[in-house]
Amino acid sequence: MPSDLELARATSSVDAESIAALLRTPNERAVRAKLLPIFAADQVFAKTSRPFKNHAQNMLYALEMSKRILELRDTHKWTHEEWKAALDLQNDSLPITLHEGAFATVIEAQGTDAQRDFWIPKCRSYQVIGCYAQTELAHGSNVQGLETIAKFDPATDEYIVSSPRRESTKWWIGGMGVLANHALVQAILELPSGRKGPHLFIVPIRNQTTHRPLPNVTVGDIGPKAYGGFCYMDNGYLHLSSVRIPRANMLQRFASVSADGSYTPAKHDKLSYGSMVALRAGIPINSGWNLARAVTIAIRYCINRRQFSPSKTEVESQVLTYASTKMRLYPLLARSYAYIFAGRSLWALYQQFLESLTKDGDISMLPEIHALSTALKVKATWDCVSGLEEARKCMGGHGFSHMSGVGSLFAAQTPSQTYEGDNYVISQQIARALVKALGFLKQMPDAPLPDSFAYLRLAVNGLRITKDDDLHMLHARTAGLVEELAKEVATNPEKGWTDHSWTAARVAAAHADVFVCSSLPETPLTKLHILSTLVAALPELLETGVVTSAQSAKELRRRQGAEVEGLSIGDVVGLTDAFEFDDWELPGVVGGKEGMVYGKMLKTVEEWDINKGEMGEEIRRMALEITGKGRRSKL
Ligand SMILES: Cc1cc2nc3c(=O)[nH]c(=O)nc-3n(C[C@H](O)[C@H](O)[C@H](O)COP(=O)(O)OP(=O)(O)OC[C@H]3O[C@@H](n4cnc5c(N)ncnc54)[C@H](O)[C@@H]3O)c2cc1C
Repeated sequence: MPSDLELARATSSVDAESIAALLRTPNERAVRAKLLPIFAADQVFAKTSRPFKNHAQNMLYALEMSKRILELRDTHKWTHEEWKAALDLQNDSLPITLHEGAFATVIEAQGTDAQRDFWIPKCRSYQVIGCYAQTELAHGSNVQGLETIAKFDPATDEYIVSSPRRESTKWWIGGMGVLANHALVQAILELPSGRKGPHLFIVPIRNQTTHRPLPNVTVGDIGPKAYGGFCYMDNGYLHLSSVRIPRANMLQRFASVSADGSYTPAKHDKLSYGSMVALRAGIPINSGWNLARAVTIAIRYCINRRQFSPSKTEVESQVLTYASTKMRLYPLLARSYAYIFAGRSLWALYQQFLESLTKDGDISMLPEIHALSTALKVKATWDCVSGLEEARKCMGGHGFSHMSGVGSLFAAQTPSQTYEGDNYVISQQIARALVKALGFLKQMPDAPLPDSFAYLRLAVNGLRITKDDDLHMLHARTAGLVEELAKEVATNPEKGWTDHSWTAARVAAAHADVFVCSSLPETPLTKLHILSTLVAALPELLETGVVTSAQSAKELRRRQGAEVEGLSIGDVVGLTDAFEFDDWELPGVVGGKEGMVYGKMLKTVEEWDINKGEMGEEIRRMALEITGKGRRSKL
């Protein structure tokens, strides 16, 4: 008999195929179709026994997965693109993830040609495995406050790299705990002429033959993390006591030091932001896909789940038919689409920037890319993390089981609000850029502006809404917020940006909303996302005078509700099918394509060691020590 999910799918009027073609390029789809069966068939990547491992077992398992994925790369002769896609298919970061995503990427971006030629082939062959070591025990956000020192010694043409205090120990470094043999260390450059601020140095930390720490290096793993998240990532610590490295190990594409210790600064002080931008620019799309996985699981589950019947004679209703379930899940589905599309647009802009940087050394797009990637990182991580938790709640009790898979997606996603810059800290960078741009515009109203800043003209021309246009309302709200912040800054010159950090976060989120809502192609979810964004922004729309009456506010809510009502259950199945998730790719056991939920849950628990075999016997013996005759006779 077909499941409720299959019956719903049969009624879908959504053209899942053409929507799938909007979500991924033909090449991306072909690569996935090639890779997914390989992972699904490989026992190393089986997922059911994963929740029972402790941290040390997880580390061993993470190394086993890393080794196996490299073997698969070599066996199948994957292209670089296929290799990157294979890493993306793992829902969890592995010890090798940041070797690829940060260590090698930053060497490519900030190394000279000679440095790239020397290090990148070693990175590709995994002879050199690296990590990105910026954060210290006592300092993270405050990069200027980092204490690790790289002192140049002209006599030997070397840097002496040291952690001066216990507090300057590098901490949180992904890939460092058990695997990396090199670290890209962010340290203060000290030259005979004085200190030059943080620069990047490649520091060998483990012997490449024995894998033991090198002399004067203390390195290890910082242990399990909140919610059991990042459990296959070996976040580590590193203390350096006068470790000598050659001068050639400072990345010097932009700033450099010559043999006599003289310093050539970067032409543009923002050039080193490039690699930070690259890391941030990838976060919104990944967050969108993570939310898409959770919403797909939750929607499929809530179609199969039935509770309460309208009358004694009718079958129980699917929980997805309840207003409060639909009003939570459908906007989340729209949100996941929105961040996937906006993430794609951001990535395309970033590629455009890279191209003009590499070809002509043109950095004119950098301020826009920096502001957008930061704003989107902030808003996408906040929205996707809150969405993941909401999706779990929509699934009732089973949502809290590891078998739902949503918990592990949440645990993996939640630190994204903190890493690559704490959201409240980095929001200030965007707010500052927008306030500056507005000030500039007020002096020169016809000055050119990047597209994503264009709405600021409304703050100069007056916030009057000239047309009843949803996007225009978002533009006016953001312009109004920037204007308010600019006034706050101007009237309180004694205050620093940290004093404005609360308002700055709202400005950053609003700036992201404008870009996200303007990036959406036409799908059955586009209006719903824009209206949900407007409804969430209602307090600010009222504060900035964009919405002026209770009636207009109610109308937005009414239209959002109508969009949700306009989607049939079959349609949302079609829209989740368009993600083309393979069952292996979705964590847990209840979000599968066919929708047979309870049978799978029962089969899964019956197969767990805790319920059978040696472990089951051990548990039975221990339980008897509590309930059995032996203990009672001692009473
Ligand atoms: C899972 C994970 C992986 C990581 N991987 C790496 C890695 O591979 N390499 C690496 O170098 N680092 C890594 N980090 C570290 C991470 O980048 C930092 O933790 C992050 O940048 C936040 O900095 P912090 O810890 O110093 O927070 P803090 O700055 O100490 O933040 C504490 C609180 O103070 C607030 N705050 C701080 N400054 C301000 C301000 N100016 N204005 C307003 N509020 C402020 C913050 O909002 C926050 O609420 C990782 C962290 C995590 C959680």
